[in-house]
Amino acid sequence: MPITTRAAVLWGVGEDWKIEEVTLDDPRAGDVLVKMAYAGMCHSDEHAVTGDLPLGLPVIGGHEGSGVVEAVGEGVTSVAVGDHVSMSFIPSCGRCKWCSTGRQYICDEGAKLFDLGMMSDGREAHKIGDQAAFRYAQVGTFSERILVSENSLVRVEPDLPLDVVALVSCGVATGFGSATERAGTKPGDNVAVIGIGGIGINAVQGARAAGAKRVIAIDPIEFKREQAMQFGATHTYSSVEEAMLAVPDLTWGDMCDRVILSTGVVHGDMIDPALNLTSKGGTLVVTGLAPMLESDAQMNLFMFSMMNKEVKGTVFGSTNPRAQIPNLLSMYREGELKLDELITNRYSLDDVNQGYADMREGKNLRGVVEFA
Ligand SMILES: [Zn+2]
Ligand SMILES: [Zn+2]
Repeated sequence: MPITTRAAVLWGVGEDWKIEEVTLDDPRAGDVLVKMAYAGMCHSDEHAVTGDLPLGLPVIGGHEGSGVVEAVGEGVTSVAVGDHVSMSFIPSCGRCKWCSTGRQYICDEGAKLFDLGMMSDGREAHKIGDQAAFRYAQVGTFSERILVSENSLVRVEPDLPLDVVALVSCGVATGFGSATERAGTKPGDNVAVIGIGGIGINAVQGARAAGAKRVIAIDPIEFKREQAMQFGATHTYSSVEEAMLAVPDLTWGDMCDRVILSTGVVHGDMIDPALNLTSKGGTLVVTGLAPMLESDAQMNLFMFSMMNKEVKGTVFGSTNPRAQIPNLLSMYREGELKLDELITNRYSLDDVNQGYADMREGKNLRGVVEFA
């Protein structure tokens, strides 16, 4: 029996999210029906609204979330009815070349993330009236119920609060891993994080957890700089230019061994200033999303080679969702990771546009949609 649910849907670039009634197909082989508890309001969904990420439309928004399994299709073995789950917008099949060599974050199933059909069998299983709907990253968490592949779900311990479970499914894992795994922060390093949103604040936490000596947080908004100090930053600046005036003295001429670029939108003209903040032999990690069609980046190529620097991209902080989501939650349980403090505001599904307005104004570290 197909069921209907309410979801926040984008019909066109530059428009508001609209609440629609969506019909979901029954779960078939490999599919899971989840009753949502919380959805995180990540900047990446905003990229669909601005058109920086051109998506098929209409699309059900949201890719961070948590919930409880309500029904499973044939052959589903990794979760059962009643299990608490975290979404993972990065799917992991466990069998492709990348999964089987410890790199679930670049699983081949990721190629289907923006398909109209289900990841399992390609059928169109989400309908608004007669029209088939896309789901952001094959999850579409701004919905009271979601029908997803089991590849996109990670089972979590049932006593963990589901609001923090929602956060580790994207922003926390991506930011934390950017500092620990991709940048490879070591004890004693100087680390700079440029852009303190849902990603950057967790890069600050990751750098601190990895033993950085100085964690330099850069953001134009005072609230974000204050929050960064609460999450482990040692110094804050309002711009890269301001940091460039102070960091040479602060680091005794060393500059920053690791720099993480996690602004809301990345542009090519941000690369050279970030590399100037990076030490000789240092690493710049680009975590934030640039507009999909932007292909120019400015950097001084002479200094790049002669100063032996590297620039790396990352998705999901270059960590494996099936290992890292439970790992981060156990760090939270032991008091080693701040998650409750990340949630600035809570919204109902009907207030999702207000949540994004607050994000744009810099009021939120993270807003969450709370389902009744
Ligand atoms: Zn995200
Ligand atoms: Zn795979």
